[in-house]
Amino acid sequence: MISFIGAGPGDPELITIKGRRLIDSADVIIYAGSLVNPGVLEGHKESAAIYNSALMDLDEVIKVMSEAEAEGKKVVRVHTGDPAIYGAHREQMDRLDELGITYEVIPGVSSAFATAAALKAEYTMPSKSQTVIFTRMEGRTPMPEGEKLTDLARHHATMVIFLSIGFMEEMVEQLEAGGYEPTTPVGVVYKASWPDQIILRGTLADIAQKVKDNGIKKTALTVVGDCLGDDYELSKLYDKHFTTEFRKGKE
Ligand code: SAH
Repeated sequence: MISFIGAGPGDPELITIKGRRLIDSADVIIYAGSLVNPGVLEGHKESAAIYNSALMDLDEVIKVMSEAEAEGKKVVRVHTGDPAIYGAHREQMDRLDELGITYEVIPGVSSAFATAAALKAEYTMPSKSQTVIFTRMEGRTPMPEGEKLTDLARHHATMVIFLSIGFMEEMVEQLEAGGYEPTTPVGVVYKASWPDQIILRGTLADIAQKVKDNGIKKTALTVVGDCLGDDYELSKLYDKHFTTEFRKGKE
């Protein structure tokens, strides 16, 4: 059985205990070297064969997996953050299905959540936003119909924008065209949870310049929305007049 593992956002302590245990006991490790912190692999068996998938195509990855599996070796495939977000693990799982090889997926801490932690943000603020959109700008991967930033911006949800830090000016333009005010708060986190993490706060009006001034060109997330502001309502959950399943509201 092959284990797809979410490595977390960078800090080697932000992998699950299960992911850690599987890496420590693996015979073959294939990891996404462009983003996974090699520190996450520390503790692997001395005899483990380690492959960096940044240098491999899909056929090559599947070949390493299927040969190791045929020899009865334990294979782990380590993706950054959580594999479910821009992880491209589905195409690997489909190929394994064709080959009759079983697999499991161990979730990880997405950089979306390491970024919220760095910003000390709650993405779902009462009366401001109860919806979070994970998206990206159109790049070499085209956006499906109805999912352009201008379309999504109309919802005024909290938006967590991946893979797009190199296009800040276009991003701001499209968000404003979709109806966000230039005063909308924006946070950018570079390398969330890594030792060289950078946190920037601003508004749609000034964030592109701040990103430029800080020389940030990759490995960063942009969070847009009023959830980052200071104007919101208190939750019902902890409202002393509100009765919940566990607690009776006071008169
Ligand atoms: N599966 C990953 C995302 C892979 S897409 C996850 O769940 O986090 C790669 C993009 O994720 C990068 O371009 C960047 O936008 C973002 N990213 C990955 N790690 C990051 C980190 N530590 N800090 C900020 N953004 C990160």
